[in-house]
Amino acid sequence: MLDSPIQEIKDKIPILDLIQDFVQLKKAGTNYKGLCPFHSEKTPSFMVSPSKQIWHCFGCGLGGDVFEFIKQTENVEFGDALKILADRAGVELKKPTLEQIQTDKKKDVFYEINDQAAKYFVKVLWESNTGSEALEYLRKRGLNDQTIKNWQLGFAPDDYHYLENYLAKGFDKKDIEVAGLIIKRDEGRGVRDEYFDRFHDRVMFPIQNLHGQVVGFTGRLLHDKADTGKYVNSPETPIYNKSREIYGLYQGKQVIKKENRAILVEGNMDVIAAHQAGFTQAVATSGTALAEQQLNILKRFCENLIFAFDSDAAGSTATKRALELALNASFNVKIANLGGAKDPDELIKRGIGLWQKAVEGAGSFLDFFFDQTFRQFDAKTVEGKRAISKELAPLIFRIADPVTKAHYIRKLAVSINVAETAIWDIIRKLTVPKTIREAKPLFHKSRKEMLEDRLLGLTINLGDKQFLSQFSPADFRDDNREIFIGLNEGEPNSTSSKFQLLSFAAQTQMQEQQLDAKQELNKIAAELKKLIIKEQMQELANKISEAEQAKNKTAVQELSKEYVLLSNQIKNF
Ligand SMILES: [Zn+2]
Repeated sequence: MLDSPIQEIKDKIPILDLIQDFVQLKKAGTNYKGLCPFHSEKTPSFMVSPSKQIWHCFGCGLGGDVFEFIKQTENVEFGDALKILADRAGVELKKPTLEQIQTDKKKDVFYEINDQAAKYFVKVLWESNTGSEALEYLRKRGLNDQTIKNWQLGFAPDDYHYLENYLAKGFDKKDIEVAGLIIKRDEGRGVRDEYFDRFHDRVMFPIQNLHGQVVGFTGRLLHDKADTGKYVNSPETPIYNKSREIYGLYQGKQVIKKENRAILVEGNMDVIAAHQAGFTQAVATSGTALAEQQLNILKRFCENLIFAFDSDAAGSTATKRALELALNASFNVKIANLGGAKDPDELIKRGIGLWQKAVEGAGSFLDFFFDQTFRQFDAKTVEGKRAISKELAPLIFRIADPVTKAHYIRKLAVSINVAETAIWDIIRKLTVPKTIREAKPLFHKSRKEMLEDRLLGLTINLGDKQFLSQFSPADFRDDNREIFIGLNEGEPNSTSSKFQLLSFAAQTQMQEQQLDAKQELNKIAAELKKLIIKEQMQELANKISEAEQAKNKTAVQELSKEYVLLSNQIKNF
């Protein structure tokens, strides 16, 4: 049997000692409590139990043992957390556990599949007739051959089985599917082929993680088609978490760290064009809006962010939201003015000097929003003045530094020609906007996971399983599923760490918030049920669009029927 160092480490590192290095804790009964390091809050909801050696935050739902704490704070996987804590405990790590080996091995397979796919797409781009048009397209977009090679750009031909057949020589089709590269058709619908390629007729941009491994792809359509999206991304897989990966960070991280700044652009092409022009600090989120997790990873490399977003997106709600997130993550944010260019890619084509000027001359985000707002409204009319202050006051309110704040209050007062005191009055009345107060923690659990946890935790504490009857094991995830089955059969494994954590979490929350367990369970069960139906609907919607892509009319009809059934069901809540 392999040695497990986990218990030894736990014994040597009291949880209280570890967490107190990061969080100020106060004694609260038998537990300790403090402000959660994983989401922003003013009243403490972060609890530590020295006797159970676990922690839990009932604000964001995170919790676990010492390893989980390090995973979250250091933003690492279990293996690395193990190393960090082994170091601290002075425990020598021998062989990894069997379980670790298996998980790691499986991940290696998915990395390997994505790597092989990337190589295949590159080969098609450079060596085939079908690829030459794509290559021409990339050159026309201003990329030189070295850049195209460096970024491993490739081409997925307009066929449904090339990649599948290629990869199937070395891998299980099931694994290729999980890796996100082929899609399974529904069985029993009389379709000849079981699988088909996810990407066809697309210029392929491999997405690399921080270590340079290919974890997924963005595919851009080479020939516009009416019913197909211009961009398709790999789905989330065991190795690809969309809200974690940052396009270009692998290539740019050293420079970003050295210069203590990153330039955030919107598209993959913007990143590549900027790097080719010598601005290797450019990164982008790919396939998602900017997420807190990405900001937190970026925070490990720099404190300064320059937004260089497409001109049509500047001032949009999405940009404001991204800005808000970046400010919450305590970045110094500046905004580059692209001077009428559509996006960074276009500006760079007009002249690298222009792009350089935009980056170096990037202004404070507030000046940027002042310009935007004054262009939008008439500062001479009463309505205009009101609209302008309504837009800008919340942003000024967010400034922490009092001198800077006073500066912008005066600027606003002068610009709309009202007394400064009027602006101060508005600012004083503002409270932290809802979106910020409820901002998700950096490493949040999904709402569904939180509801699962609470449903099970409260059930454990109440000792009454009536609220579980409307759910089935499939509704729960991983270890929650086991606990659900155990509770239902009246034989839960009450010594398992997840069981203890759920129970502890529910208990502290009941005490802190003085909730009525039954009422609470009622609410939670209803919301969870609704979420599950919504997930099923989403899944069906995906299947419908896949079936549409595959031109399978009967499947589309049947799936649509199921969809209608569910949408009727959800109306009952
Ligand atoms: Zn929290």
